[in-house]
Amino acid sequence: MAEVAIVGGGPAGLMAAEVLAGAGHRVTVHDAMPSPARKLLLAGKSGLNLTHSEPWQRFIGRYRPNEPMLLAALDAFRPADLVEWADGLGADCFVGSSGRVFPKAMKASPLLRAWLRRLADLGVTIRTRHRWTGFSDHGLTFETPDGRLDIAPDAALLALGGASWPRLGSDAAWVAPLRAIGNDVADLKPANAGFDVDWDAAFVERFAGAPVKSVTATSDAGTTPGEFVISRHGIEGSLVYLHAAALRDRLDAEGKADFLLDLVPGRSVERLARDLGRQDAKASFSNRLRKGAGLDGVKAALARLFMSEDERRHPDRLAARLKALPIPLRRMRPIAEAISSAGGIRFASLDDRFMLKARPGTFVAGEMLDWEAPTGGYLLTGCFATGRAAARGLMDWLAER
Ligand SMILES: Cc1cc2nc3c(=O)[nH]c(=O)nc-3n(C[C@H](O)[C@H](O)[C@H](O)COP(=O)(O)OP(=O)(O)OC[C@H]3O[C@@H](n4cnc5c(N)ncnc54)[C@H](O)[C@@H]3O)c2cc1C
Repeated sequence: MAEVAIVGGGPAGLMAAEVLAGAGHRVTVHDAMPSPARKLLLAGKSGLNLTHSEPWQRFIGRYRPNEPMLLAALDAFRPADLVEWADGLGADCFVGSSGRVFPKAMKASPLLRAWLRRLADLGVTIRTRHRWTGFSDHGLTFETPDGRLDIAPDAALLALGGASWPRLGSDAAWVAPLRAIGNDVADLKPANAGFDVDWDAAFVERFAGAPVKSVTATSDAGTTPGEFVISRHGIEGSLVYLHAAALRDRLDAEGKADFLLDLVPGRSVERLARDLGRQDAKASFSNRLRKGAGLDGVKAALARLFMSEDERRHPDRLAARLKALPIPLRRMRPIAEAISSAGGIRFASLDDRFMLKARPGTFVAGEMLDWEAPTGGYLLTGCFATGRAAARGLMDWLAER
């Protein structure tokens, strides 16, 4: 049996540890932080969304790019497998009204505790405060409380995460050493983050924190229903995150992008124009919006902010605007605030076993790979699935030797 070092004790690294130790290998997980899986624990604070129950074709359509290796890893560990695995740790998963899957306790701590117990029973050693600093000729080097440590395992698996929430441990310091040995690493960018909008002061004072419900949004990613939240800086929340990658790419390419909203998704533009046309032209704009379109509160305030005088006055133009209201975005929020990051090690730098072509015997998994997905459980599913796939790739490689 081989000596395997896993670097990074998040969902991807711990899943790889389970597979490898389950097959009898001697596994040590090294993590920079005083305890493992801090981002998983934080993810559980707002309800740990483990995966999604939607049909398989729609599910895999959420991942960008449409990378065959990623899809194969997901296929080998589908949402139903993930639920079975989590239930085996006592999660007692349920499907929420949106189709998202959560453990009954909603948080991550009971699941993580049970998982760490299982790993200990399998003989996995976890070394905390071990910061990986790079490669040596034959192995890996770490900074530890006792000074520099050099190890030369039979194989290594890196699962160092992306670049969001760096204070939880994943600070993407791995990018430089991986590029230095010839890997192609796409720049890390925020994913699943909000955007800055130039609100006026009175609007933000009144509506920061307000949810905007039952709207549809359109971007290069398509048209989707949902809700989002007004923040001090701009906009955030699930509907924004669904479109965030497309909006970010457009901002990067063209320097501007609009979050296009339909505030009255239940009515056609013709019907809405008719309903608005029936209102007394002398009534206030607020009354016409409320009675003719059923809009008040934050939705009415949004309409008022991004509409010209001319559009307000003419029912046809007003209806068209309410069905396609562009919120101009200034920029994406910083990566440190994002839920996840895009970019990372390109699949072209890996062989089909998730092994670095530039460093035989070193495998990679999780968010440090170049893929992204919206919130909805897709991120954790992707990390668990690639953790398993890389562990299996590592075992195939060992077996060949
Ligand atoms: C607020 C928030 C909520 C979220 N909610 C959800 C959710 O509900 N559902 C979902 O699917 N996803 C969610 N996510 C995303 C999900 O948590 C991440 O995608 C996932 O944790 C990434 O797993 P990973 O194992 O690849 O990396 P990480 O979880 O980031 O783990 C990487 C590990 O590597 C360690 N490490 C990093 N650098 C070094 C180094 N140099 N040396 C040693 N160790 C190092 C880190 O300390 C860390 O423990 C959320 C994220 C955030 C921030």
